[in-house]
Amino acid sequence: MKIHEYQAKKIFRQYGVPTPRGSVCFSMDEALAVAQKLGGSVWVVKAQIHAGGRGQGGGVKVANSVQDVGTHAAKILGMKLVTHQTNVDGQLVRRLLIEEGVQIAKEYYVGMVIDRSKQSVVLMASSEGGMEIEAVAAHSPEKIHKVWINPSSGLLDTEADAVARLIGIPNAVFAQARACLQGLYRAFMEKDAILAEINPLVLTVDQNLLALDAKINFDSNALFRHQEIVALRDLDEEDPAEVEASEFGLSYISLEGNIGCLVNGAGLAMATMDIIKLYGGLPANFLDVGGGASKEKVTEAFKLMLRNPNLRAILVNIFGGIMKCDVIAEGVVAAAREVHLKVPLVVRLEGTNVDLGKKILAESGLPIISAGDMADAAAKVVAAAKGA
Ligand code: GDP
Ligand code: MN
Repeated sequence: MKIHEYQAKKIFRQYGVPTPRGSVCFSMDEALAVAQKLGGSVWVVKAQIHAGGRGQGGGVKVANSVQDVGTHAAKILGMKLVTHQTNVDGQLVRRLLIEEGVQIAKEYYVGMVIDRSKQSVVLMASSEGGMEIEAVAAHSPEKIHKVWINPSSGLLDTEADAVARLIGIPNAVFAQARACLQGLYRAFMEKDAILAEINPLVLTVDQNLLALDAKINFDSNALFRHQEIVALRDLDEEDPAEVEASEFGLSYISLEGNIGCLVNGAGLAMATMDIIKLYGGLPANFLDVGGGASKEKVTEAFKLMLRNPNLRAILVNIFGGIMKCDVIAEGVVAAAREVHLKVPLVVRLEGTNVDLGKKILAESGLPIISAGDMADAAAKVVAAAKGA
């Protein structure tokens, strides 16, 4: 689960990571009031969307007067901000963060993720702050320094200092760097994050380290023990199809291809997407209907897939283990009737009561293309999507 920058900054402050002062706003009037209250002579107006690269897209503006804050706020609120992390249409800006402006001497990058191969959290740090870290990794990987953190000791002072030295933080600021890095690690662990990132972490001209940007992504499987994080969820920032799917207990992820997939079990769903690609097609979605898919669930799954304007064909791939193939077949037939299916439908069933299931599909009168094994199903659905 993702949250906004202003929300992540609040968490960082709770863990002793300093940030510029600021407030979230939903209108231009609020933005003006916040700027006035903050005082000073420079402000920053920042679009709050769940995507990075806002600066380059025109979503981060420095203002030199309260009037300027108003002008930028009016322009950014309601704009469709396009960045390398949004889709081509961009993301509608509904919230702003108004902050005091700071004078930057140097920008650094620090971030943490889980390194599964090393079974630990890895701290990544670089002197190349403010840029896309993926670009640094691609062009000058030697400029990214890593520390694998031992969970029983946490991030040691000596480790924090060594990293600070490697990325060029001046000695006089090591104590502040320690507070930032160890605070980031504690926040990461206690909040069950899967990513926590400060890009840029800045050294100001008066020698203070501040998190100028903040990003935290959380492990959805741990949200049950973080009601305070669940409360920060902003559904406006999420794919409506994915939100609706979760309400029906379906795991659904939109993808860029044109072949809809309806599968039971996450592993089989992944394998189904792989084999579609192997046969030259591209999946339109990941969809796991789960073990006990009812007729209603299957119908809802069809409706979700059909909302995608790129959809050219659907592959239903079901292994009837606990679930019986005849029950699934009845669900598929009922759903296909209800939604007035207009794209080719390939169905591959295997497992308990498979013959009865196939009979139900064959006798339904619907133009269902029946497939034998997974390879046969993939070949048939890829051909159908290409209009063969
Ligand atoms: P992102 O583009 O979505 O990652 O948004 P950031 O929060 O990282 O802001 C982008 C850039 O705006 C930063 O790298 C800074 O260079 C600049 N910026 C943000 N806040 C300030 C500020 O207070 N003063 C100055 N001078 N620049 C700022
Ligand atoms: Mn940033």
